[in-house]
Amino acid sequence: MQRAAPPVALYAHIPFCVSLCPYCDFVVNAGAAARGPRARVDAYVAALLAEVDLRADALDARWGPPEGAAEGRRQPLATVYLGGGTPSLLSAGAVAAILGRIRARFGLAPGAEVTLEANPGPDERGDLAGFVAAGVTRLSIGAQSLVPSELRRLGRRHAPGDVGATVAEARAAGIGSVSLDLLYDVPGQTAASWDATLAAALDLAPDHLSLYALTLDDPGAEGLTGPAGDHLPTTPGGRRWRERARAEQDEDRAAAAYDRACDVLQAAGLRHYEISNWARPGHESRHNLAYWERRPYEAVGTGAHAFDGRVRRWNAASLAGYLAALTPSSGPGPGPRRHPAPVLPPGGMEELDDATATAEEIVLGLRTDRGVPAAAAEPGEPAASALAWGLAHGLVERGSDRRLRLTRRGALLSNEVFARIV
Ligand code: SF4
Repeated sequence: MQRAAPPVALYAHIPFCVSLCPYCDFVVNAGAAARGPRARVDAYVAALLAEVDLRADALDARWGPPEGAAEGRRQPLATVYLGGGTPSLLSAGAVAAILGRIRARFGLAPGAEVTLEANPGPDERGDLAGFVAAGVTRLSIGAQSLVPSELRRLGRRHAPGDVGATVAEARAAGIGSVSLDLLYDVPGQTAASWDATLAAALDLAPDHLSLYALTLDDPGAEGLTGPAGDHLPTTPGGRRWRERARAEQDEDRAAAAYDRACDVLQAAGLRHYEISNWARPGHESRHNLAYWERRPYEAVGTGAHAFDGRVRRWNAASLAGYLAALTPSSGPGPGPRRHPAPVLPPGGMEELDDATATAEEIVLGLRTDRGVPAAAAEPGEPAASALAWGLAHGLVERGSDRRLRLTRRGALLSNEVFARIV
């Protein structure tokens, strides 16, 4: 039986980007919403602070405040993650206000990991020294590629040199942990250009690397974009770009790129601690580990997902709906949106049954190099036949510690294994 528990981590979504990359499925408001006279950034930060208060009020009522809560109850947060979007577009003052409110209402444990996502462009990477002063300890940089033609094809605004400049600025600012995101199976990518990206990335001595295959989904077709949906509809231009790009993707090339990355990053001394993530010792993403370990986390901002150990909850993706709920509105007339104090934004929730929770636990465990206990494959266990199939086909192996883990081939074909478990 899954038990609810207070959060150990908090995710805050910052949905603004200077422009919209055509493949992007994140909740993003780009262009005029992000910059200039019609920007909604200040209004959003005010709304986000109001949501932090409302979520904290609910936790206070349920578990007590972080300080003074009974032993084993609500503890200060171990990690905070400002993701996007492009959180580095925020001023250092805005980041300080958000982290200050989180600290005041949730508590932050000594040595807490505080990550901020940044884009590398000179006008996007923001005030890194100011972010450090505000409490940021870790920077996750959206490099994606270090090959100029691939960056152009992806609609990115930065050049390869901007990635190195951002890493250097981050180090100079005193950021102790730097991560790079890279994409493979990108249109036009070759084995040689992927090698060039990996080599150039390693030259920057990152502490952590996240490698993702470019995925080209259609959230509208998947039913994720309604009024309570956690995605925004794809633009017509984005849809056309994806159709063209999809025709240039190649499963074999993607598998070869992943395989190559495993070799190159292992040789560079990085630990492959999760299917898509590599780190130097001590630089694993503690925030993401909380997700993979199914620990409870709070979340604020448009499209953000929270989990209390039993219930998943999400905010709707719509910026207008979010601001309408969290921005007090007064004045004449009744109107459904008139409320003198902030109210929680629209969204949805689902309670996980025990079978779903167990399947999730096994899938998430297999994603990491911790794996799952051998007992999960014993007859009668819900995932026994899927794990036996994985063992028989060389996709799952039993370690000397008797835990079960994906093999390299299993990581490549992980969806085949996971589909049999859920
Ligand atoms: S910069 Fe990142 S979040 Fe923003 S549109 Fe591009 S892919 Fe999406």
